[in-house]
Amino acid sequence: MSRIVIIGASAAGHTLAAKLREANKDNSITLITEESYLAYDRRMLLDFVFGLIKEKELYLCDKDYYRDNNINFLSPVKVTGLNPQKKIVYCRDNEKSVNFNYDILIICSGRRFILPQIEGARKPGVFNLNSLDDYKELAPYLIGDTVCLAGNNKFSWDMARALAVRKKEVKLIAVAENPIPQPLEGIEVINSQITEVIGESQAQAIRLKEGKLIGVAAVIFAEELKSNAEFVKGAGLDISSDYILVDNRMQTNIPDVYACGQIARYKDSINEEKSWNGIIQEAQSLAETLLTS
Ligand SMILES: Cc1cc2nc3c(=O)[nH]c(=O)nc-3n(C[C@H](O)[C@H](O)[C@H](O)COP(=O)(O)OP(=O)(O)OC[C@H]3O[C@@H](n4cnc5c(N)ncnc54)[C@H](O)[C@@H]3O)c2cc1C
Repeated sequence: MSRIVIIGASAAGHTLAAKLREANKDNSITLITEESYLAYDRRMLLDFVFGLIKEKELYLCDKDYYRDNNINFLSPVKVTGLNPQKKIVYCRDNEKSVNFNYDILIICSGRRFILPQIEGARKPGVFNLNSLDDYKELAPYLIGDTVCLAGNNKFSWDMARALAVRKKEVKLIAVAENPIPQPLEGIEVINSQITEVIGESQAQAIRLKEGKLIGVAAVIFAEELKSNAEFVKGAGLDISSDYILVDNRMQTNIPDVYACGQIARYKDSINEEKSWNGIIQEAQSLAETLLTS
């Protein structure tokens, strides 16, 4: 029997755990997430925040699934470090430290938008929208009229459209390297950069680099992504452009340590775009690889 530890319970981690368990009842499977929720579909978060679906429709499984399938689901538990020589994963569970020994470790901890280092970026009303908790926090701010979004990528365009359809006044602040696909009806695109978020107790306005002020109810930053890989520091994993590098079996440079999903890239295709469905397929094929090796 192998002890399999999976870090991250989303598209990659949940799929792997489910697929590994479906094919083999003997292995011990531990699935760790720092969030307080069952695995959920991040693609549906916009529908959830606008009340089109209920929270339970976001979930990829029901609350008994992990128990019924003998998957040790740990939530909310944060992984803080790794020792690949001793094959130990270090975690924080509330205030307690807990460690897990593994035979096979799979890192599926994904990537997140980060807030810029500008004045006011930590004020209430400023969001980077990575998790279900972030969307729950955003909801009350959407009562206001004007939402400012910084970013020029599929996420910011989709978010801008979803807000505009709901009659919000949307200002999309974009450095126009990529052409913005049309139509972005009802959305004011401003080719600039936010240099400050202004407000007493919460965000009330943004300052653009030209000095212009714009009043806002909420500010969303979707500009820069970073891997959730703080815990691999010092573990000796090959990293490039912030991604964990894997070979064609999704194994890292360290034996028995694999990576899958948004955080992992093949050495020769670092810039590859990965979709939710692509990640599900990738996790399924990694499960097959592990089951046959
Ligand atoms: C609002 C929104 C809409 C999207 N829409 C689409 C879409 O329409 N189509 C599409 O293809 N993609 C979409 N995406 C992107 C897609 O959701 C991601 O590509 C996908 O979720 C990546 O899956 P993943 O399993 O690699 O990582 P993630 O989904 O990022 O999950 C990472 C997991 O790791 C856990 N974790 C991270 N760090 C730690 C730690 N230190 N300790 C413990 N646990 C940790 C997290 O809790 C989480 O469970 C969207 C994303 C968002 C946020």
